[in-house]
Amino acid sequence: MGAFLAGSFEAIGGKAQLHHANDYGDNLQIDFAGEKNSKPVLLLGHFDTVYPLGTLAKMPCHIEENRLHGPGTLDMKSGIALMLYAIEALKAWHKELPRPVTVFLVSDEEVGSSSSRKITEALARESAAVLVLEPAAGTRGAVKTARKGVGDYTLTVQGVAAHAGLDPGKGHSAILELARQILTISKMNDLQHGVSVNPGIIRGGTRTNVIAAEATAEIDVRIKQAKQAAGLDRKFRALKAVDKRCKLTVEGGINRLPMERNAGVAALYKKAQAIAKEIDWKLEEAAVGGGSDGNFTAGIGIPTLDGMGGVGEGAHAVHEHILISELPRRALLLAGMIEQAK
Ligand SMILES: [Zn+2]
Repeated sequence: MGAFLAGSFEAIGGKAQLHHANDYGDNLQIDFAGEKNSKPVLLLGHFDTVYPLGTLAKMPCHIEENRLHGPGTLDMKSGIALMLYAIEALKAWHKELPRPVTVFLVSDEEVGSSSSRKITEALARESAAVLVLEPAAGTRGAVKTARKGVGDYTLTVQGVAAHAGLDPGKGHSAILELARQILTISKMNDLQHGVSVNPGIIRGGTRTNVIAAEATAEIDVRIKQAKQAAGLDRKFRALKAVDKRCKLTVEGGINRLPMERNAGVAALYKKAQAIAKEIDWKLEEAAVGGGSDGNFTAGIGIPTLDGMGGVGEGAHAVHEHILISELPRRALLLAGMIEQAK
């Protein structure tokens, strides 16, 4: 996919460069020269998806009325297509791009961006603004001006195994202890202030007749403000075993700090609104719970506008699709933002 996309962007005049990654696919950077020698705009996206190889057989790409269905259409191949068309149109209109544009497409966004994060941040630091081509929020096509921070924790309980029939008094059940801990963890939820904590996976024990020696929980956490990270982390680190013979180990932390709607984000949104208004389009904004690589770039203080990509429904689901009729004005908005974003 990286090689295919490199070819597509080179066909419209970009200079492609692969950043080798050891444990993931290579990350792809494409540079476009511009008329003015100003700072570039960074267009950010990813070409990995959550679908396993072979999904197309059960979920073929097809058009149904105004909808293009298929795995990854919304998240976020349509965003990449928008980049291609907006750049091509700007070049045709101005002969040369009005400013330099850097495209960065990562290979590991869906699994936390560990191989690409440093490059994303370095490219953002050299850029005047970052436009993230992740899907728009909702079918009204709102851009995303705030995203929650995301992290995960793993809690492992080490108990003491014993035969459930012969020696029930000698065991210290890791499962029972984990159950108690989960109740404590669930109290960390503070939905009113945008903090949510979800033990989404539990594992433990070996057989019904053995008091479990080990049990683990994997917990997804979301925060609304960067300053909530430390407090939440402290609560996880302070968990104490109720059964003193059980040992707790806490690993993990916040991976993506929230993208907060700061002055830089608000200014980009205002610009986008003005461009949309020229074609009588009332562009809305939204705050969402999911994180993206936009969290990284906003987190280091670079003005970032997210959700500039396709409009549709069902990201990561069997009914994933985009609305075809929305594509032209999204491309226009992106082209306008490349011209005017500062
Ligand atoms: Zn995505």
